[in-house]
Amino acid sequence: MKYTKNCFASDNYSGIAPEAWAALEQCNTGFADAYGDDDWTLRASNQIREVFDTDCEVFFAFNGTACNSLSLASMCQSYHSVLGHHLAHIETDECGAPEFFSHGTKLLTMEGENGKVQADALAKLITKRSDIHFPKPKVLSLTQSTESGTVYTADEISELAAICQHHGMNLHMDGARFANAVASLNVAPSAISWQAGVDVLSLGGTKNGMAVGDAVVFFNKELAHEFEYRCKQAGQLASKMRYISAPWVGMLQDDIWLKHAAHANAYAAQLGQRLSEIDGIELLNEVQANGVFVTLPPATTEALRAKGWTMYDFIAEGGVRLMCSWATTQAQIDDFVADVVAAA
Ligand SMILES: *Cc1c(COP(=O)(O)O)cnc(C)c1O
Repeated sequence: MKYTKNCFASDNYSGIAPEAWAALEQCNTGFADAYGDDDWTLRASNQIREVFDTDCEVFFAFNGTACNSLSLASMCQSYHSVLGHHLAHIETDECGAPEFFSHGTKLLTMEGENGKVQADALAKLITKRSDIHFPKPKVLSLTQSTESGTVYTADEISELAAICQHHGMNLHMDGARFANAVASLNVAPSAISWQAGVDVLSLGGTKNGMAVGDAVVFFNKELAHEFEYRCKQAGQLASKMRYISAPWVGMLQDDIWLKHAAHANAYAAQLGQRLSEIDGIELLNEVQANGVFVTLPPATTEALRAKGWTMYDFIAEGGVRLMCSWATTQAQIDDFVADVVAAA
């Protein structure tokens, strides 16, 4: 397969997975009811209920920023706060959208090893203040898999959920890469979502191989009250919804979404392993999903960039991030590793 050297920059640099593409073509016949009242959207929603083995409320939006910020807004008043890891996408990469859509709900962040929120840090932040002068903690938002390429186990999520429950808080999960976590842990999607205490999940489709479209899944159905109005008001209700929802049908059937995620994870594992064997290169985090975070000698980074390789360095503090996707190939890995070796 032909590729360009920006193939590891991010998983959204990839194209559309064939199954998503095929579903788009399939849905492109005749007329269909608009605004989500079509059969494809019903099928996609039902498939999500099946995948999660529970009766949840499902909404489709254009991207993850919308899913996160609208679902957080649905749980918060303007005087509340949302707690999360300091590297959380909602904090670093959504241009204040969660605060904007919630009319001022404040994000409070904490440090945590391996990109994960730790129970003691969470408890400390929740109980830091209880007076009227401080925004009241209302939601914990966890990213699964994390911004550091690690994965929360079901037990870790349950432990954090118990703390939230104790304090009357809800648990939100930013699952832009939820598929990679499911594939990595080899568990049922329910085990690391509602069964572990997650109330609302932003379920990513784009980085998994779709063109556009992420979903909000409310396991706690009460929280979905009037959510459709939020989507519409925010410009997130697609009128030709079938083109957003049909790819979900294509991707969810026969666990294809997990097959693609496992493919991305396996190549990331291989890339991490091979890079870590090279002198002067160290993994910043264990590779548990589809991202590899490594420190490279500055001269190596420079040489790679000169050869055209694109790498993000703003997330991996002091290193670079390499993302694999459904479209990653052995040749891409081999070429990159060869160029690293040549530059070292
Ligand atoms: C990509 C991503 C999102 C969604 O980003 P959009 O650009 O809004 O689609 C959300 N959370 C995380 C952790 C992501 O990596």
